[in-house]
Amino acid sequence: MKFFSTNHKAPTVSFKEGVIKSLPEDNGLYFPEQIPDLSAFHQSEDRTLQDIAYQTLAPFAIPDIPATELKKIVEETFSFEIPVVQVEENIYSLELFHGPTYAFKDVGARFLARCLGYFNQTDQKEVIILVATSGDTGGAVASGFYQVPGVQVVILYPSGKVSELQEKQLTTLGHNITALEISGTFDDCQHLVKTAFLDKELNQNINLSSANSINIARWIPQSIYYGWAQAQLNNNEVVFSIPSGNYGNLAAGILAKKMGVPIRRFIAASNANDVVPRYLKSGKYQPSPTIPTYSNAMDVGAPSNFPRMLELYGNEYNDLTKDISGYSLNDESTLNTMEYCWKENGYLLDPHGAIGYSALKEKKSQNEVGVFLETAHPCKFSDVVDKAIPNYHIPDFTADLMLKEKKSTEMTSDFARFKEYLLK
Ligand SMILES: *Cc1c(COP(=O)(O)O)cnc(C)c1O
Repeated sequence: MKFFSTNHKAPTVSFKEGVIKSLPEDNGLYFPEQIPDLSAFHQSEDRTLQDIAYQTLAPFAIPDIPATELKKIVEETFSFEIPVVQVEENIYSLELFHGPTYAFKDVGARFLARCLGYFNQTDQKEVIILVATSGDTGGAVASGFYQVPGVQVVILYPSGKVSELQEKQLTTLGHNITALEISGTFDDCQHLVKTAFLDKELNQNINLSSANSINIARWIPQSIYYGWAQAQLNNNEVVFSIPSGNYGNLAAGILAKKMGVPIRRFIAASNANDVVPRYLKSGKYQPSPTIPTYSNAMDVGAPSNFPRMLELYGNEYNDLTKDISGYSLNDESTLNTMEYCWKENGYLLDPHGAIGYSALKEKKSQNEVGVFLETAHPCKFSDVVDKAIPNYHIPDFTADLMLKEKKSTEMTSDFARFKEYLLK
């Protein structure tokens, strides 16, 4: 399969090239030239998560990744469960948080890591993946790449500006994962990474790569759990409510629908950062500065996957709004929703999932079956859970991790030092 750039000003690439390059040079996003039709497969009996994963990925990845290798990668990527859990009548939670870092980003990060590891077997130079993180993404990438042969990962994070749990996830793995603690902001970290990619001397000596969230190998596997949810619900056509920030998850859901998963429709559920819900109402796309909220993984003012959403509907606003409606919830109502769902159903929501659940409560008709994506484990946001349900005691299954010793290298935001470090 070939991939083109949504800006149409860069050459098409193979799966392998697209994964390694991550971003086309015209600043668009890679997008598949054809959308495979798997509708017959999605009606078949007894399909497992791994069957769905393999059938979904094969048309994109083969022959760049041979079938036997792809099977192995799928088994390693989807090694944790992704259950659908009933919360109340006609409302279900698709729990995407059973992976190693307790959030759905594990799926994409693990697949990408294994693809790069495979491609690197034929190249002799070692690959260094550079990642700047403000918290969450770094953990998923670090864990995804852990002990993948031939790949070194260097994670840059702003000192004192990530949570203790997040810092432990970045700094305790060791092996091929190195954490650089930068005295500066997230923007300083991102600037160092960007400068490194542009530095001629560095790029002559090492294969630098990124684990950017818009990489096709992070995006496409996210479409798999929609088919898996449908399979677990006996193929009922459901309404998916998707807590969204950069809209990778929602764009992957639309891809799943276009590939033949029988999905009724989508709700784009956002916090106060409601660019897309506003677009759905008005037809005008107006990115705005980021507003900090309790559901901070969704604090995005200019969603990077928006062009993929448009592309999936051939840039037809009317078609897009037939399938997708918008919803937005503020912080106070998010807390109220968490409290309500706990008291009514005994189901603990994290602040992101809470917005998805609330969207179903308000936007779904009585007899429609709704599934919201529970994108993170509530323990990752225990401070917010505390505000919503003061007497709730969150079981601390992160205790082991918290006991592990942090290993990081401190560094300023001076590029010359950083470069010297990488060349060593
Ligand atoms: C990344 C993330 C989101 C938003 O997903 P997008 O694909 O960026 O829309 C929602 N919830 C959690 C917990 C996340 O980590």
